[in-house]
Amino acid sequence: MTRDNIPIAIRQEIIQRDNCTCQYCGKKGTFIFRYAKPSVIENPLNIDIRGLDFYNGTDIIAFEIDHIIPISKGGGVSRDNLVLACRHCNRSKGDRDSNGKTE
Ligand SMILES: [Zn+2]
Repeated sequence: MTRDNIPIAIRQEIIQRDNCTCQYCGKKGTFIFRYAKPSVIENPLNIDIRGLDFYNGTDIIAFEIDHIIPISKGGGVSRDNLVLACRHCNRSKGDRDSNGKTE
């Protein structure tokens, strides 16, 4: 959780550019402020968040900003290297990165 050092302005831009939609599977989330950061969440329990300015509860699943090229491989915090991803896709991508090398 603490490795997300993406500046708020860039988070906001990525979320707007990607239209609250996971760029891997197309799942659309809900925009809300979470711990004072612009965020996109899945709301599997259908908590009534309409009209709320922010929601800090834990009973949701937050989308993540994915680094297309990981920081560890030289990727940077730039718009071109960041996409919005649901947690499921971000996790599976990480798995592939670590053991999916074919060449
Ligand atoms: Zn996804």
